[in-house]
Amino acid sequence: MHNINALKELLQEPKEVMITTHHKPDADALGSSLGLAGYLKKKGHRVTVITPSDYPSFLNWMEGNDDVIVYSQKNDALVQRIINESQVIFCLDFNNLSRINEMGEYIRHAKGTKVLVDHHLQPEDFADLDYANTSAAATAEIVYDMIKALGDGDLIDSGIGEALYAGIMTDTGSFRHPSTSKNVHLIIADLLQIGVRTSDVHRLIYDSSSELRLRFLGYALKDKLVVLNEYRTAYISITADELKAYDSKTGDTEGLVNYALSIEGIVFAALIIDRKEAVKMSFRSVGSFSANEFARAHFNGGGHKNAAGGMSMDTLEATVAKFESLLPQYKEQLLQATENN
Ligand code: 5GP
Ligand code: MN
Repeated sequence: MHNINALKELLQEPKEVMITTHHKPDADALGSSLGLAGYLKKKGHRVTVITPSDYPSFLNWMEGNDDVIVYSQKNDALVQRIINESQVIFCLDFNNLSRINEMGEYIRHAKGTKVLVDHHLQPEDFADLDYANTSAAATAEIVYDMIKALGDGDLIDSGIGEALYAGIMTDTGSFRHPSTSKNVHLIIADLLQIGVRTSDVHRLIYDSSSELRLRFLGYALKDKLVVLNEYRTAYISITADELKAYDSKTGDTEGLVNYALSIEGIVFAALIIDRKEAVKMSFRSVGSFSANEFARAHFNGGGHKNAAGGMSMDTLEATVAKFESLLPQYKEQLLQATENN
């Protein structure tokens, strides 16, 4: 990790800054991006946030949301121009350029200084300045610490604070994962002090389901959950037709995988969804079993030890069959998995 002085130097004068984050941004991806954007704007920089895809509507309350550019084939030329003209390019909450689709290669070849701010394992080496910290609970936590270390803690207002709070709250599973450190709680205490509406943010994110989304959850748990007790594993697979039948929107399947993990004795859970362009997979584990290693080894993915993702270009059926067929080789690890890391 680079010394914070290198960043201070880089941001000394007002600059053209762009911020991007991973495909299908979640609350930490968008919250850390908009929190950082709010701060940099206050410092006099010209800031553009570009996401590689759309994101759930339950995130659109964040300050700065209206100015976000969502990449699409239609605005490809504009996005390329912004990337080429940016003097500083912040890459938040991802560490591999393949995670931002077409924009990855544009950024790889861009002239601007690339700054990585992330908490995922095994980063690709593409950034000029690297503020990766794999023990951070959220990228939003690193952004908060960064602003403080730059000596600008007093610029964190409630708009910036609520975006950062959303990232920390969701990535810690509402402060229950082992990543929820003393530093996390101290940050939250400070955010409360400056007027962040913590319970409103929780409600905006978690209590904004459509009726159909809740019925879809019921259907998935009743008819689609597969429990393999002999491997301490449970998974849910969803077809493209099922997504359509429940009019599933971006973000509607978020959190579903955690229900599979909430069964007593289960230490590994997967959600396998036919997204048409590819089969997307979410993995969750508890304790010593590494979802990250599993995703990297078999499904072209990665993430954190206990929360990772991956994809497959096979059919849904073939992907599910592959997933099941891999479990026997992990049987010992799964049976011996301890609840502690
Ligand atoms: P989720 O299952 O919520 O989409 O993702 C869980 C974690 O794994 C997140 O930190 C996310 O950034 C990461 N992740 C999800 N999909 C992929 C993927 O395809 N590749 C990599 N490297 N990481 C992923
Ligand atoms: Mn994150």
